[in-house]
Amino acid sequence: MSTKSVAPGEELQDFIRDIVRDDLASGRVKSLLTRFPPEPNGYLHIGHAKSIVLNFGLAQEFGGQCNLRFDDTNPVREEMEYIDSIQENVRWLGYDWGDNLFYASDYFQQLYEWAEYLINEGKAYIDDQSAEEIRETRGTLKQPGKNSPYRERSVAENLDLFRRMKAGEFAAGSRVLRAKIDMASGNVNMRDPVIYRILHSPHPRTGDAWCIYPNYDFAHGQSDAIEHITHSICTLEFADHRPLYDWFIENLPVPARPRQYEFSRLNISHTVLSKRRLIQLVEEEHVKGWDDPRMPTISGLKRRGYPPAALRDFARRVGVTKSDNLIEMALLEYCVRERLNKTAERRLAVLKPLKVVIENYPEGEEETLEAINNPEDPQAGKRMLPFSRELYIERDDFMEDPPRKFFRLAVGREVRLRYAYFITCREAVKNAEGEITELRCTYDPATRGGDAPDGRKVKGTIHWVSAAHAVPGEVRLYDHLFKVPEPGSDGDYIADLNPDSLTVLSEAMLEPSLAGLEPGSAVQFERQGYFAVDPDSSPEKPVFNRTVALRDSWAKIQAKK
Ligand code: ATP
Ligand code: MG
Repeated sequence: MSTKSVAPGEELQDFIRDIVRDDLASGRVKSLLTRFPPEPNGYLHIGHAKSIVLNFGLAQEFGGQCNLRFDDTNPVREEMEYIDSIQENVRWLGYDWGDNLFYASDYFQQLYEWAEYLINEGKAYIDDQSAEEIRETRGTLKQPGKNSPYRERSVAENLDLFRRMKAGEFAAGSRVLRAKIDMASGNVNMRDPVIYRILHSPHPRTGDAWCIYPNYDFAHGQSDAIEHITHSICTLEFADHRPLYDWFIENLPVPARPRQYEFSRLNISHTVLSKRRLIQLVEEEHVKGWDDPRMPTISGLKRRGYPPAALRDFARRVGVTKSDNLIEMALLEYCVRERLNKTAERRLAVLKPLKVVIENYPEGEEETLEAINNPEDPQAGKRMLPFSRELYIERDDFMEDPPRKFFRLAVGREVRLRYAYFITCREAVKNAEGEITELRCTYDPATRGGDAPDGRKVKGTIHWVSAAHAVPGEVRLYDHLFKVPEPGSDGDYIADLNPDSLTVLSEAMLEPSLAGLEPGSAVQFERQGYFAVDPDSSPEKPVFNRTVALRDSWAKIQAKK
């Protein structure tokens, strides 16, 4: 995997930036103007984040501008909900389009006039063939296509039919407008592509104003030209469309000559990055919605607790190339961990509680102990933790028959309670079913703060919360949404869903400062990972999502190489 580390502020090097630098140096381009052009037919995913970081990032680096343009030419699948979520996501990622919010649908009248222009030039015609006939006569990669029997219609007849299409005289699918280019072209996209179709569907923004709609190829380049976009950057699957993009720019009286450049799309292991598939996951309720923290959508990653700065860092590390590759999810998690390590305050939280009674601690007494908020950030200061006779510790931090390397609690062993005291376990109390319900321990009052004045060492330090002061909460742990790196690579990707991607721990016990935090707040639960407050939280019961575990699996993967 070619992923370089990029320091913030470091100058990025890639083929697109080379082109931009050359164009600015040679004067071909006076000022850089890019755009991010989502189709509002689903929520944005992290692949789109790569494109957003590239387009808006270029504008920032080169003192240019980036437009947000909705490519809303297909009314059938588009919705206002998507338009709203996309704007929110781009803003959340840290980018601002200022006044430069556009819609391809704003250009419907201009595009229509350009279609008439092509007809007048003898470069477009109305075809009465069915979609199936058009497909069948398109030819193959090896064989040329066949000219439509309607190809030689007169300009007058074409204009008349096109205007009647627009007036709503014909049924959907009965006629289309095609560009008259070359049915024998080696590039299938140039074989008289369909550019307008009849769709009797209201549009989210233009309502019933139109019943004919331009397709993507007839809208995209012209929209770029109308906005004076200098570098129209898209993913590699559009490389075969570039000759058509250029043909429209050449053959229409457009106000500017944008150029298209293609880079490889982002693919990440253990997930799917395709709106069609993500829609299926939502509609079939494999997940709880577009913002389910297991989803690779920007809304899902936000809810999971991924900081926008980590996504920007990730996009920069992945870089911009022309070769397709699969990026490991571990790299994304690494970027998230790097960021949160610097910013998230540390807290104590017990996810699977086991009661501990400190027998020699006076009943009814309590005290507070000082804890550091973030060892990476002295500015974050300190807080006070309440301590008392009854505590909770993590069930997994006790073992009845510990193996040799287990340095946590067992009967007769001593450990450190983080920021508090050394305790020794005297007895494990069991219920009738033989389950351990409580540990009876003693503490050494001389070890207050976590160090023994006699220099005695303990091998384990565990976290805890005071039972009387603890806030009960819910903690949601996440694993990969898919159990294989490339879902669907041998068949149905739905079958590759990980049945254990969500674990809900509803009896967690949290230190008091974890109550009442705003949704989205990020903290580290010591020894457990980074967590973010979920919007499902209530004042009575906070809910936390595990953003990422502490373990640095990416560093391990790198070390093996
Ligand atoms: P999907 O395949 O998920 O449906 P799309 O390409 O149809 O995505 P658009 O809304 O048309 O989605 O994409 C907006 C922009 O984001 C386009 O410029 C597209 O090239 C880019 N983009 C989409 N997916 C990725 C990806 N995985 N990596 C990088 N850029 C992407
Ligand atoms: Mg698309």
